[in-house]
Amino acid sequence: CGIIGCAGRESETLDVLVHGLSKLEYRGYDSAGVALAGEGLDVCKTAGEIDDLRAALEERSPSGSVGIGHTRWSTHGPPTDENAHPHLDCNREVAVVHNGIIENYQELRDELSTAGHEFRSDTDTEVVPHLIEDELADGADPEDAVRQAIARLDGSYAVSVVMSGVDRIFAARNDSPLVLGIDSDAYYLASDVPAFRDHTDRVVYLDDGEFAVLDADGYRVTTLDGEPVEKTEDTVDWDP
Ligand code: GLU
Repeated sequence: CGIIGCAGRESETLDVLVHGLSKLEYRGYDSAGVALAGEGLDVCKTAGEIDDLRAALEERSPSGSVGIGHTRWSTHGPPTDENAHPHLDCNREVAVVHNGIIENYQELRDELSTAGHEFRSDTDTEVVPHLIEDELADGADPEDAVRQAIARLDGSYAVSVVMSGVDRIFAARNDSPLVLGIDSDAYYLASDVPAFRDHTDRVVYLDDGEFAVLDADGYRVTTLDGEPVEKTEDTVDWDP
């Protein structure tokens, strides 16, 4: 339902994510969660409201130089803690949030289960971290692994990914909105501008079939095949 991501805010990452999720509450949701990556990967997610997530975070305070957050509106599986996003691979090194519906998830899930992957949720989304895990195991670098995994998905998606030991956020879209927010020293991504409008008014709208990489130093947009795409920056002229 709602996605927020942030690179370059260092110790403020968690606050930026939770604030962004609260700005997306108007879209409706039944669960919420965050993943922060840096040296490790820390995930906190819960069924219920953003306040339930805040309460769960008080016991943990995850940190990381990049992070992603999600509010879920269930399509596959009831609103439970396990079905909340982010979803992880078997090694708990890849975290994925997703808006939309992956039409071929059952076929992918069967293939992955046969290959030994164990699933913890009922969602269509959970195939994505497992597909990425397989690409990494085959020797792909993090960016190619995400790109190749996403190329296998049919359906509608805005997907965002962080990984243990990687100071970057990967994102892609097809039939579901995703927009980047550009500041002088921090970069954001979201399903909708209000999620980061308190930090910047400079935006880059992603189009279907595009893939983005963000870190503390900037952003890059390519096709799913890795061809560079020239994007134009817009300014939003409305207030939060
Ligand atoms: N299909 C996914 C799920 O059921 C994502 C739903 C959404 O867009 O929030 O978990």
